[in-house]
Order: sequence, then structure tokens, then C-alpha cells
Amino acid sequence: MSTSDRDLGMRRRIPRRDFVNGVAIGITGAYAAARLPSLAAMQAATADYPPARVGLRGNYPAAVQAFGPMMNGTYREFPSSQADTGEQYDLVVVGAGISGLAAAHFWRRALGNAQRILVLDNHDDFGGHAKRNEFTYQGRTFIGYGGTQSIATPYPYSYTAKRLVEELGIQVERNAEFQNREAFTRLNLGPSMFFDKEHFGEDKLVAGNGRIPWPEFLARVPLPERARRDLIRLYGKNPDYLAEKTTDEKSALLARISWEEFLLKHAKVSPEAVLFFRGQGGRNNKRVDTTPALEAARRGSVGFNGLGLTFEAEAFRESSYTFHFPDGNASVARLLVSRLVPAAFGGRALAMDGIVQAPLDYARLDAAGAPVRMRLSSTVVRVQHDGATEHATGVRIAYLRDGKVHAVRAANVVLACYNAIIPALMPELPQAQKDALAYAAKVPMMYNNVLIRNWKPFAQLGVQSISSPCMLHTGASLDAASTIGGYRAAATPDEPIVIHMTSNPNKPGLPRREQNRAGAEQLLKTTFEEFEREIRGHLARALSGGGFDPAADIVGLTVNRWPYGYAYTYDTIGDPDMPPEERPHVVGRRRFGQVAIANSDAGAAAFTNQAIDEAHRAVEELFVKNGLA
Ligand SMILES: Cc1cc2nc3c(=O)[nH]c(=O)nc-3n(C[C@H](O)[C@H](O)[C@H](O)COP(=O)(O)OP(=O)(O)OC[C@H]3O[C@@H](n4cnc5c(N)ncnc54)[C@H](O)[C@@H]3O)c2cc1C
Repeated sequence: MSTSDRDLGMRRRIPRRDFVNGVAIGITGAYAAARLPSLAAMQAATADYPPARVGLRGNYPAAVQAFGPMMNGTYREFPSSQADTGEQYDLVVVGAGISGLAAAHFWRRALGNAQRILVLDNHDDFGGHAKRNEFTYQGRTFIGYGGTQSIATPYPYSYTAKRLVEELGIQVERNAEFQNREAFTRLNLGPSMFFDKEHFGEDKLVAGNGRIPWPEFLARVPLPERARRDLIRLYGKNPDYLAEKTTDEKSALLARISWEEFLLKHAKVSPEAVLFFRGQGGRNNKRVDTTPALEAARRGSVGFNGLGLTFEAEAFRESSYTFHFPDGNASVARLLVSRLVPAAFGGRALAMDGIVQAPLDYARLDAAGAPVRMRLSSTVVRVQHDGATEHATGVRIAYLRDGKVHAVRAANVVLACYNAIIPALMPELPQAQKDALAYAAKVPMMYNNVLIRNWKPFAQLGVQSISSPCMLHTGASLDAASTIGGYRAAATPDEPIVIHMTSNPNKPGLPRREQNRAGAEQLLKTTFEEFEREIRGHLARALSGGGFDPAADIVGLTVNRWPYGYAYTYDTIGDPDMPPEERPHVVGRRRFGQVAIANSDAGAAAFTNQAIDEAHRAVEELFVKNGLA
């Protein structure tokens, strides 16, 4: 082991070693000797409790390894009848994300609890992107979110989505106490930026962005003088860089170019100054180079305030953290499951407070005889009608589990899985629909959780969050977990806390969809060890001034990689302007016989309300087809 690896603590015994790259390994040799006090309990717990599994999670390798062969046509022929389990359902749902769970819920609500439903998912836990991470350290449990974080203000959730949120007993308007946010305020912790030596010539953490006057902040940033002057200009009152154009011409131009192009060509800032914005952009993880300038202007990004454009306030305040659970929307998924398979939660009807710490028996999710069964670690590889599509008597569904193919039958199917995989599931779809489904490129992301034994280095530096414009993880922040349902957030810097690190791998210079594909590829081929080294090194460099010691301070690490992340949304630079009904996601989601298509992909919008709305639409389509609506 190199000295630098030793300094980073790469061989430190943390529980993650038992699930390296998502695969359980035994505890042997040196690892077994140097155990944390809580490890034995942790190991016993993780064997049948997926949220406590650490290491490489999210779309972990075993969950997605069948996707390649599926796309290459391995399952074109429906697997042999020997695979048949003999099970028959009223509805099979493919995908146990919020959309799939909501579809099962809507189905039962309309047709009654006697309906037999099977939900299949390729992961060992349900929730899709809405995933719970847990750490146990020194006898205390720490909860984090491995994906979907928040139910933003319910507005503009549709009536359907709002009603479901209400039905689950979630009061979004209730302000949970963010105990450690208060602690952050009391200690005067705020945002900071980390400038890495590879791009800025030296490693430097500068606190105070957005809190102190920009000229004061920028005076401490390691940038050439010209770039510093450019940034001071951008953060002040800008001249009208498009003075020769009318308002309509300005908007039309800004819709076609990126924020970066606007900054370079029109605001005439230096490329070094643009590096400052590398990690920033618009909705859905768009960056400075992929965010249409018009969208950047509408969001209030710098450079546009001299153009004389006025925008209506956006109704949807993205990042509105009115309320979220400590495990993010995993609690929404858990609430849905507590209604679909109550036995797994001890038969209790749970609501907002009760769900956070409610024990869940995963072994009961797939109980024979239960009206709703949830079968995890089951990758659906083929879906085929029995007979002619529109007059079929039913649908056969084949899935891979433990390396073997199994098949079930259903009268109806909702595909709430990634829409791009659907052509591999149903090669008999019309070609135009398959092309439409293949159009989008999901946004690759990581939401990584690092448990540290205390946050004194943050307190010493006066820092709560760090944005690193040119590093793999552009965001790192102390997690303001909510204090709810008896779960207590960390309140003093002596306590352990979760650092939440975000990443959106991409490849600047390529069109956005290609950047997404390149980023996904990068996530799929990077090992847990490489991610770990990167994370430890990043925190060590950024927090060195506060005495952070990665080898001693990091006591837990879960990497949630999402090569199949956010649903793709269109933008005015990379996507053709076309009538709404001809958009690829609309053509792609058409019902096919007894099979309807849900998932947020089907709404071309990466939010929980969309996942719910698409589930509702898919279920309704089947009701119409079956003459029930
Ligand atoms: C890191 C991250 C953070 C996010 N944060 C937020 C947020 O704060 N607020 C918000 O509103 N939205 C957020 N989102 C968006 C999120 O995608 C939606 O809110 C919502 O959870 C999507 O639900 P879904 O059911 O449509 O898709 P998914 O959650 O992707 O669920 C689909 C499920 O289908 C499974 N599946 C796919 N193929 C197969 C197959 N062949 N066989 C079996 N199963 C299959 C998938 O593995 C997955 O479990 C976030 C997304 C990510 C990735």
C-alpha cells in the first residue's frame, strides 16, 4: 500500500469492506482482527437488511449486470416454459420505485385489496432512486438518503400526486425541526468553495461565497487577475451585452446558446473565469456548458441583469426544503410499502412520524398467499403477450433471480422501469416506439454518504458545505437530517454526522445527451476502491486547514452510484422543437396491449410527482383498455 493510501486510510477497517462492489464477502484475516465495536451487530443486521449495506450501492453491479445481455438480444426468445413458476397475477409491476409502488397502490385503491399483485425489482431494496442508507456507529444509527431527497413544496404537484402524499399521512407543510441546521446557524457555518490545484494552481478552500461581498470573496480565490475582474463584473450590475437586439431577439438567441457561450462570447469573460461556474447550471444537473442561457437567465444566474429581460417567477421552487425525511423519499416508498404489504411492517398503519424508525422485515415482502408480493433482486428480462397483442389473454413475464430465469403470468403489466430498457423487454413493439424509447439519456449521478466521527474540522473552518467546481464531487455538505419520529439529528460538532457528497459525471465539450452517456459509462466502470480514494482525497484536501484526518475521521462510506439517474428532460439547445404529442417520451410511453408504461422517464421530468402522475396515467390506460373506466 502506498504511503498516500495509508494516509487516506484506504485499509482502515470500516464496515464497507463487507460489501465491496455490492457483493458480500466474508470477514477474514486482518480485517477480522481490527473491528469496530459495532461491527458484529452491523454484520448481523446487514445480512437481511439492505439499507444498512455499505460500499457500492445505488445501481450496484449485480443489479444491472443483465442489462448488457438484454440490450444485446440475449432474451429475444422468451425463455423456455420450464422457467414457469405457475404464479398468476392480476397485475405485475416492473420496478419498485415510487412510480411502480404508486401504480400498485392506485390499482388496489380502484379495484380492491383482493387483487393479486406482484412487484418485481432488480435491486435488493425497493424505492428505486428513493433509497435509504443507514450506518451504525458506537451503538447509534445514522440515516442518510442515497437518492431522491425531497418532496418539494406540494405546489405544483397535481391533484393526484398531492392526494397520494396526503393519503400517506405526510404533512409537507409541517416544518420538521432541523436540529443541526440550528447548530450550523449557531456556529455560524456557511458555504465555501474548494479550488483544486489541477485547475486553479493551488488547493484552497475559501469560505463565504454568497455571504460576504463578492469582491471580498473573489480577492481570496486563486485566479488570474483578469478572471477575478471578470467575475466581479458578472456579480455586479452588468451592461447590456446584447444591446443591439430587441427583447424577442435576445430571448431567441439565449434559448439557442449555452450559459457558457453567453459568458465567453457576449459577456467576454476569460475561460479561467468560466471554470468558476463549471459545477453550476440549470435544472436536472445541467452545467454551465449545457444549460441554455435563457434558462440560466430565468434562474437568476450571473451575467444577465443588464439585458432588461423580465421573467415571471417560477411557480416551482426547486430545492425548496420545506420538509424532507432523514432518508429522503425512501420514507415515501416505505409508507407505500406499509400499505401494500403491511405484514412487513408488523401490520401497522404508519404515517409520517412512525415510518422513520419503523422496523421492516424484508423476509415478509414476498410471502406466499399475500395479495401483494414484492420480489427484489429480480431483473425482468422479457415481457410477452400470450397471443396477438390487442386480444391477448395475458402476458408472460420472465425475470432473472439468483442466476436463473423464472416466469410468471399476469392479466396486466405496468412497466415502471427505466424506459430505455423497454425495447429489450418487448422487441415486438413498433419500431417508432422503440426509437422513441431509446432517445433519452438518463442523467448519471452519485449521492454518496460519508459518516465522520465528528465535525470539528467543519466547525473550525466555519464551513457547512463545500462546492468544488472542477472535482468529481461538486458538492459536499453536512447533512441537515431532520429530527422526526424520535430520530435525532446531530447537534454538536463532537457528534458523528453524515457528509452528503454529490456528483454528476459528465464530459464537457460533448452534447448533453452524449455527456450523460459518457458519465454513465464512467460510473459503471469505476470501482468502489477508486471512488473511495477519490472521496477520501477530496475531503482531506479541502478540509486540511481544519485538521481533518481521513484515516481516523471517516468511519463509514456508502457510494450510491446512479448511472441510470434522473429522467431526461428536454432543452432548447440539444433537442428539436416539436409538438408535445410527438415528443419521444409521449410516443415511447404508448400502451401496448395489456402493458402500460409508467416511471418518471415517461413524463420526461425527474421528480417524484412525475413518477406518481405517470403511474396513475398508466393504470388508467389499462382500466380504459379493460373497460373499467
Ligand atoms: C440521486 C437522485 C436524487 C434525486 N432527488 C430528487 C428529489 O430530491 N426530489 C425529487 O422529486 N426527485 C428526485 N430525484 C428524481 C427521482 O428519479 C424521482 O423523484 C423518482 O424517485 C423516480 O421514481 P421512478 O419510480 O419513476 O424511477 P426509479 O426510482 O428509477 O425506479 C424504477 C425502478 O425500476 C427498476 N428497474 C429498471 N429496470 C428493471 C428491470 N428490467 N427489472 C426490474 N426492475 C427494473 C429500477 O432499478 C428502479 O428500482 C432524484 C433522482 C436521483 C437519481
